[in-house]
Amino acid sequence: MTDHALASVDPKIAKQILLEEERQHRTLRLIPSENYAFPAVMEACGSVLNNKYSEGYAGKRYYEGQQHIDVVEKLACQRLKKLFGVDHANVQPYSGSPANLAVYFAFLKPGDTVMGLGLPSGGHLTHGWGVSITGAYFNAVQYGVRESDHRIDFDEVAKLAKEHKPKLIFCGTTAYARTVEFDRFAEIARDVGAILAADIAHISGLVAGGAHPTPVGHADIITSTTHKTFRGPRGGMIMCTKEHKKAIDRAVFPGLQGGPHNGTTAGIAIAARLASKPEFRTYAANVVSNAKHLADELMSQGITLVTGGTDNHLVLCDLRSCNVPGKVAAQALDRAGIVCNYNSVPFDTRKPFDPSGIRIGTPALTTRGMGKSEMVQLARWMNEVIRAPDDVGVTDRIRGEVEALCDSFPVPR
Ligand SMILES: *Cc1c(COP(=O)(O)O)cnc(C)c1O
Repeated sequence: MTDHALASVDPKIAKQILLEEERQHRTLRLIPSENYAFPAVMEACGSVLNNKYSEGYAGKRYYEGQQHIDVVEKLACQRLKKLFGVDHANVQPYSGSPANLAVYFAFLKPGDTVMGLGLPSGGHLTHGWGVSITGAYFNAVQYGVRESDHRIDFDEVAKLAKEHKPKLIFCGTTAYARTVEFDRFAEIARDVGAILAADIAHISGLVAGGAHPTPVGHADIITSTTHKTFRGPRGGMIMCTKEHKKAIDRAVFPGLQGGPHNGTTAGIAIAARLASKPEFRTYAANVVSNAKHLADELMSQGITLVTGGTDNHLVLCDLRSCNVPGKVAAQALDRAGIVCNYNSVPFDTRKPFDPSGIRIGTPALTTRGMGKSEMVQLARWMNEVIRAPDDVGVTDRIRGEVEALCDSFPVPR
């Protein structure tokens, strides 16, 4: 058996995996789209389910030998339907972006009009941004946030919708610290006869755990990743009303994909089961309260936050008043063991590859069991690094303190 072990088959890759495991343990993970998947999910992803082809859906496959795969996929769908309270769930999208593309393929022809939140305002590439296939092959109209308070401008959304008559409206965000008001989007979509797709990639764990309002009852289609706040495998899912079941299923397979990733499907089933437990509701609430504590302490250190705080798991820092570009800050923080990403802020005058902000979030640290006192400490460390990004003395000292903290909050395994 040992002869087949990764370390002897490919020591170079084995070493990097080991080092990455160590890095994930010894640093504070603040990237809001990242998390530590449930260990049981990791086990399913590395299982024999990897070795099976299952094109089609349970009971209607194009390959034989589906006795066990069908059970797994049905369980995943049933659990999601119950957890979110939806009519239908498709767990086959390979990730969040293909899930969204399947929605376009289900309802639009090339050149048809779609509306989505622009990338600089916190939207995702797949909501019609120019460099994405969704902006290149469709007529994408982008709405934004208000200049005064950086919140989604519903007057603009309504005006653009009336003017452009989109067939599809996307709502949902990737760098927005406030509650997404699905009810208001639904009203606008209804008025112009558009299909409303809510992309809850970042917040599906919060929605499942009752810490963010649900799009169910407002959106026709709900898409999500499964690996962010949901703590499942890297994957995607689409949920919808009965009416759209057929269109969505056909768009995913055979429209866009071949065989589903069955290990991932099992991982989604496991995550859905664990997300239905009372502990997960506590987790989701703690993610949000940790983000609020982190935001409050950053502000009291004098750091400007976009929208002046947060309602969810995410905080967007505008570092212009600190005179430090986002990238410089993110790289210095990384040297101190605090890992985040640089990010544009609304109406940013700097380029996307060298923007004015950093984006942080609490899903992963909350998974490790951290709470208010750790958030306060973290904000103070961040402030010190941001004020002196080139001071190796500061980054080295904080790196040592970060590692000591990490040892008290081991990653789940
Ligand atoms: C992360 C994200 C996606 C894309 O997910 P991938 O799995 O990276 O393809 C889509 N939409 C939103 C809003 C996201 O945040």
